[in-house]
Amino acid sequence: MKKITILGSTGSIGVSALDVIEKNPELFQVVALSAGNNIRLLKKQIEKFNPRVVAVANKDHAVKLRETLNVKNKIKVFFGEEGLKEIAAFPAADIVISAISGSAGLIPTIAAIEAGKDIALANKETMVLAGEIVTVMSCKKGIKIIPVDSEHSAIFQCLEGSKRENLRRIILTASGGPFLNFTENQIKKVTLNQALRHPRWKMGKKITIDSASMMNKGLEVIEAKWLFNVNISDIDVVIHPQSIVHSIVEFVDGAYLAQMGVPDMKIPIAYALTYPERIYNDLPALNLIKAKNLEFYKPDVKKFPCLKIAREAGICGGTAPAVLNAADEVAVSAFMQKKIRFSDLPRIIEKVLIIHKVIYNPSLENIIQADLWARRETEKIIERMVL
Ligand code: MG
Repeated sequence: MKKITILGSTGSIGVSALDVIEKNPELFQVVALSAGNNIRLLKKQIEKFNPRVVAVANKDHAVKLRETLNVKNKIKVFFGEEGLKEIAAFPAADIVISAISGSAGLIPTIAAIEAGKDIALANKETMVLAGEIVTVMSCKKGIKIIPVDSEHSAIFQCLEGSKRENLRRIILTASGGPFLNFTENQIKKVTLNQALRHPRWKMGKKITIDSASMMNKGLEVIEAKWLFNVNISDIDVVIHPQSIVHSIVEFVDGAYLAQMGVPDMKIPIAYALTYPERIYNDLPALNLIKAKNLEFYKPDVKKFPCLKIAREAGICGGTAPAVLNAADEVAVSAFMQKKIRFSDLPRIIEKVLIIHKVIYNPSLENIIQADLWARRETEKIIERMVL
């Protein structure tokens, strides 16, 4: 029986993970859950999965949750950043699913690694912000970081059983998002609702916007660099609108391995929880006859400059990826509040990166400070634009 903690249980990945767990009660047991503000859903999850501890965003939520729970329920309710760290390091867990969205996932994931837990990593920002620190720490602790991000899970699966020195190149696939066939001019006029309509994957709002701008793929390039210890120059991105091939690896002998499947996050989640084993699931089979064509295109970085900006920040390294990510989080949030246009996203992020003084080989504190600095600068730039 594998004991599981989920950080971010009410988000898209958390809900899918609980679905996998619910269908395999003989394999998995939930011991701890954390959520942000969705107390109603968390309460339902507590009643169904009976964890021993939970954490919520703040004290008010903790009080409210306690009041609504059955008095007989002896569950411990933590709150705030400290509470989240407590949950992440909860001794009973074997594996922690890191599924909080954004840079907020970094500190609790590090707390879980420090506590010696294996990580099923859905929070790509952990690697984007602190890839080097996290890699060194996971080696020291002897824990496994198993990717949940579908592309990285694909690469992880393709690399199974092969020697790392035989890997020549990683090819990340990207659906291209809802604006793949839009012209540059059409992209200038897109609305929030259009950006939120992803053609293939059902995900949280932030990542859906990032997929539309292709920033998500840029962040995934940096994530892949650290997860698989490759240079960014050896990571390619191809547009694959069908989202059937989840990524590809190229070996030195010219052999390519790809991982395919229906686009459903429950597959990489289940694999991360059972690796190196596989378990049955009831998803519809992949119908290749119906799919007919598997297409691959070169991404257009003129239409989607975020991909190029992210790649450059990844090559630069140091605190640049943290600044890239923070600027993107703030800019996407402004776009969701309809303060800026979709096409402003890359311009704003680039401006912040240009004025940032990169710190190389940063400490965790340097990274956190760079993240905070970038948030303030991005807000200033947006304010000036809105005025
Ligand atoms: Mg992905």
